[in-house]
Amino acid sequence: MTRALIIVDVQNDFCEGGSLAVAGGTQVASEIAEYVRAQGDDYTTIVATADWHIDPGTHWSDSPDFVDSWPVHCEVGTAGADFRPEVLPAIERTDRTFRKGEYEAAYSGFEGKSEDDGALVDWLRSREISSVDVCGIATDFCVKATALDAKAAGFDTTVLLDLTAGVSSSTTADALRALRDNEVGLTGTPVVRS
Ligand SMILES: [Zn+2]
Repeated sequence: MTRALIIVDVQNDFCEGGSLAVAGGTQVASEIAEYVRAQGDDYTTIVATADWHIDPGTHWSDSPDFVDSWPVHCEVGTAGADFRPEVLPAIERTDRTFRKGEYEAAYSGFEGKSEDDGALVDWLRSREISSVDVCGIATDFCVKATALDAKAAGFDTTVLLDLTAGVSSSTTADALRALRDNEVGLTGTPVVRS
């Protein structure tokens, strides 16, 4: 079995102190680093995704609803778009970063492109990946969307919930239901503090 690990959007703006902070984000950043240190050799490839906005239209709002519109976050060129320092030991072991959302909302890492303009699905297929583990932020948005797209692309997909943090308990519960309904595997429990 060839396995990939996808580390979703562990960026400063999604962790404590960021413009769209998800409670537990910093803890998850540290735990992903520890997981990759201990388990990284089990993966054929490890990749990261990043929310990467220049002008994403109505995805940003001065009066966000935190469902379809959000405070300004992960603006290219700002520290908020950088990976959270605690996760950097894991990021150093990634083969590619797939950045998404320059001019539109993009929740799934499968909408992202790497430096060589390659798409995530092509990278995974080129490495003959059969199964995908997904972790990162936020459980109820970009982790969920990435995992659903991985499953739809034909990969045996599992979300490592211990290594995710959710925006809210209600949207996280909805996300877990959607993942189960789509036969995405779930292990552990997500960090949800609000
Ligand atoms: Zn965004």
